[in-house]
Amino acid sequence: MKFFILSIFPDMFQSPFSEGVIKRAREKELVEIELIDIRDFTLTKHRQVDDYPYGGGCGMILKPEPIYLAMDFVKEKVKDIWTIILTPKGEIFHQEIAKNLAKKENIALICGRYEGFDERIRYLADMELSIGRYILSGGEIAAMVIVDAVTRLVPDVIENPKSLEEETFCNGDWIEYPQYTRPYEFRGMKVPDILLSGNHKKIREWRMKMAKRRKDEKYI
Ligand code: SAM
Repeated sequence: MKFFILSIFPDMFQSPFSEGVIKRAREKELVEIELIDIRDFTLTKHRQVDDYPYGGGCGMILKPEPIYLAMDFVKEKVKDIWTIILTPKGEIFHQEIAKNLAKKENIALICGRYEGFDERIRYLADMELSIGRYILSGGEIAAMVIVDAVTRLVPDVIENPKSLEEETFCNGDWIEYPQYTRPYEFRGMKVPDILLSGNHKKIREWRMKMAKRRKDEKYI
């Protein structure tokens, strides 16, 4: 799978994509990430990516030309590409979307900035995604969230696929059961004895019961 990320701040991605699961996925060549600086596709001397809104109003709007040219460049490299623009009003990203995206071969993520995109940029998109009903300064953090959630679902990225099978949201509204590690007792809180019983059937039953109960739990 290959991600193309179009941004005016490509350096923002260096650290998050050089650690942990994503780093390993890239090293194993299961996932490739190409960062594309939208500014490299500007046509003006000052490499201007934004301009004032027609009709007046505050802030600046990302111009269509550099983003269209950057996407032309991407489309020359790969035949099939699923293009996502990041917007606050887009479809809210969730695990089922991540699962579907993990089946794609090539994904482009277009990050907005300032007051957002020129409306014509929307015609490039197959999909418009939001990571929540709030306003971020730019689409970069949203793109990181999507790349992270999708990458861990790409086959062989997580070494033991079983660990994906009982994760929260892996199956509709399933919530993972409570997990404990050592020490047995911490500040007066003990690990449920059933988990130390060695009785795998009973442990499984307890976990399933707790997972169901978790669905009705209130947030802490
Ligand atoms: N003026 C825009 C509006 O009212 O919808 C908001 C622009 S926002 C400051 C700049 C960029 O950040 C957006 O174009 C989008 O790419 C990104 N962005 C902001 N909030 C987001 C969210 N919740 N999910 C995904 N992307 C978001």
